[in-house]
Amino acid sequence: SASLRDADPDVAAAVKAELGRQQHEIELIASENIVSRAVLEAQGSVLTNKYAEGYPGRRYYGGCQHVDVVENLAIERVTKLFGCNFANVQPNSGSQANQAVLLALASPGDTVMGLSLDAGGHLTHGAKPNLSGKWFNAVQYGVRKQDGRIDEDVVAELAQEHQPKIIIAGGSAYSREIDFKRFREIADKVGAYFMVDMAHFAGLVAGGVHPSPFPHAHVVTSTTHKTLRGPRGGLVLTNDEAIAKKINSAVFPGLQGGPLMHVIAAKAVAFGEALHPQFKEYAKNVVQNAKMLAETLQRGGCDIVSGGTDTHLLLVDLRPKGLTGKVVETALGRANITCNKNGVPFDPEKPTVTSGIRLGTPAATSRGFGTSEFQEVGELIVEVLDGLAANGEDGNEAVEASVRERVAALTDRFPIYND
Ligand code: PLP
Repeated sequence: SASLRDADPDVAAAVKAELGRQQHEIELIASENIVSRAVLEAQGSVLTNKYAEGYPGRRYYGGCQHVDVVENLAIERVTKLFGCNFANVQPNSGSQANQAVLLALASPGDTVMGLSLDAGGHLTHGAKPNLSGKWFNAVQYGVRKQDGRIDEDVVAELAQEHQPKIIIAGGSAYSREIDFKRFREIADKVGAYFMVDMAHFAGLVAGGVHPSPFPHAHVVTSTTHKTLRGPRGGLVLTNDEAIAKKINSAVFPGLQGGPLMHVIAAKAVAFGEALHPQFKEYAKNVVQNAKMLAETLQRGGCDIVSGGTDTHLLLVDLRPKGLTGKVVETALGRANITCNKNGVPFDPEKPTVTSGIRLGTPAATSRGFGTSEFQEVGELIVEVLDGLAANGEDGNEAVEASVRERVAALTDRFPIYND
């Protein structure tokens, strides 16, 4: 049958344009990455045709012998990677992995505790507009004003007061290591389950440069497409057989129907890559690069929330430059540097404006950027910021054009998907 280009030139053109964007822009969105050809190939495979409701060896459809091999490989590899006993690799996304935990371990109306959205938590950890905030009694903890860090004493007090069923740690814009041991002690004191959502830093755990949530967490969720560098998707891990059974029932038939077997194949490939010694080097570089980027921006007059980072991401407070996240995201976009505006803790600006940007190093590190490139990236960002500070929100055209040229030189030196 016809290729995409022949069958549907409109979609093909948009896909090609997106490839060009990824090749020629510096991607600093902390939740994105650049997957291998092998991951792309698995996800684009004929496995997309297959229905496989159920689990390997226990399916509701015939013809599952080959997809069973694939799902078993994914499970074997991911349990080895994170040193745990059970995995469910079927969640279609990180959000669905988190919903599966809520469905498995709590009932509507129960109390769940998580990091609030405006302090760097995720929507699915109890935010008001999300199911987790609508159907559960969500209690949210924040970060300390003086240093932007989680205060475990406050978490302990809130847990005592509200007696949650589940305490969730993890977030989308929190750049510091979390004290998993302390969280588990807090959970044990009130008889709560302790869940870690490691979506952002899973690749760092896999690469041995970030503490593991095991053995402290009862249950761990993740996405597979951020630092872990796999296809878009989710997973749930545990060491507890009783919890594993509940999670399996919650994912299917509780929440989902047929699993995306092509995505599970791509997850298996990505887990295999993450087990490779090279991935340790990658994870180490991701963190070193983030530290370099943070230091360069601090030298250039920006504030970094919490004063730095332990991970792949940093939250830049733009108020010392008199700028908002909205204006900076757009200006950096003009210079072919991609990031997202992000509220900083206690942000006086609306969520559509914000006082910050969130930056991350996973994608550009995948294309080969090291600390010297990230120092240059930091300097380029400061040039754009200072152009804005001096000229208003339209920025300085000459500065942005010159930054764009140096971005092109960098991306040309580290090509992706070129063969
Ligand atoms: N959990 C955390 C901590 C996240 O940062 C995200 C994504 O941003 C998710 C869950 C949700 O993942 P998905 O977008 O795949 O639903």
